[in-house]
Amino acid sequence: MTNTRPAPPGLAIDTPPCPLCDRSTDPTPDGTLDCENCGCFWDANRPDEPGEWFEPHVPACGATAQPYADNRYASAEVRALVYTCVLDTGHDGDHRGTDENDGVENWRREVLTVELPAGVNA
Ligand SMILES: [Zn+2]
Ligand SMILES: [Zn+2]
Repeated sequence: MTNTRPAPPGLAIDTPPCPLCDRSTDPTPDGTLDCENCGCFWDANRPDEPGEWFEPHVPACGATAQPYADNRYASAEVRALVYTCVLDTGHDGDHRGTDENDGVENWRREVLTVELPAGVNA
């Protein structure tokens, strides 16, 4: 008498997180790993290579932030870091930028908005 074993269950494929927003990328039948949140994708066979934007011709948001400027516990180098948002103009949600060393920082639009008291013109 032969015992047949059921096939081992399928694997749940873990996809790498998007380096900009940290959400899981979505595998597609085209062989790309997509991040809808940031509007970009990577070649699934070369995921360590730089990715591409869905709409490469839309100008960059370009907002900047110096998130550690006022942090007295940070080193002078860290306080001097300037991040420039790499998403497109008019994007939703937080800005997502990299510094020149490819550090990634997300920051909220509110950080960059200065509320003026009523009656004061900028
Ligand atoms: Zn993303
Ligand atoms: Zn932005």
